[in-house]
Amino acid sequence: MADMTFRDVGKSFGRTEVLRDVNLDVADGEFVVLVGPSGCGKSTLLRMIAGLEPISTGEFRIGGQLMNDVRPRDRDIAMVFQSYALYPHMSVERNMGFPMEIAKAPKAEREGPVRGAAETLGLTKLLDRLPRALSGGQRQRVAMGRAIVRDPVAFLFDEPLSNLDAALRVEMRLEIARLRKRLGTTTVYVTHDQVEAMTMADRIVVMEGGLIQQVGTPMELYDRPANAFVAGFIGSPK
Ligand code: ADP
Ligand code: MG
Repeated sequence: MADMTFRDVGKSFGRTEVLRDVNLDVADGEFVVLVGPSGCGKSTLLRMIAGLEPISTGEFRIGGQLMNDVRPRDRDIAMVFQSYALYPHMSVERNMGFPMEIAKAPKAEREGPVRGAAETLGLTKLLDRLPRALSGGQRQRVAMGRAIVRDPVAFLFDEPLSNLDAALRVEMRLEIARLRKRLGTTTVYVTHDQVEAMTMADRIVVMEGGLIQQVGTPMELYDRPANAFVAGFIGSPK
């Protein structure tokens, strides 16, 4: 089970408090979208889930297990960033299998998961290509393939589509929706695109200034925004 719970979680860098009173439950298999203005703490929250930033106060659990002091590589969480850095000199197959290679899985063990991920993402015919011979959308799919290859307990996406043009964004949105249907993996997804948030989320978490302002389904936030900030962000009058 990959349900997540945050209890009174806070984060400070030195004396600067960037997150406080974060209380949130994410159900197993749920797709939660974080939105909020630049600098409100979205990326920091993701990095804390991944274990890349220590939690300053409070408790964070996955599947009931306290994660505060668990190292990133022992968390089994996959993260997809907006700059999907592929290794230019490595084939699609090797790019996708690279996390397993680092984890010292032998080639024979990597092949199955890589082929499975390639099939899921429609990349089977491209496995021998180098990244430069791929379109933008194909590259983005390889980056996602690399994330799903290890069958992680959760996915974290940090504005993964913000560098793409509008058409590709729509294509990738559909791709992520398909992945989600197929894999059912718990996902926390950061975006500043309202359409993305409204169409993809089971629930949206609206943040501002290091605080969660409201959590709800897209309809709940649209119909009953808790305050003017949420209303403004979701785009409905209050
Ligand atoms: P968002 O992703 O919502 O734009 P971030 O989580 O990146 O916001 O940043 C939240 C706040 O924390 C910002 O004020 C940022 O400057 C600060 N911050 C982020 N990382 C660090 C760091 N490593 N050291 C100091 N301050 C940081
Ligand atoms: Mg960010």
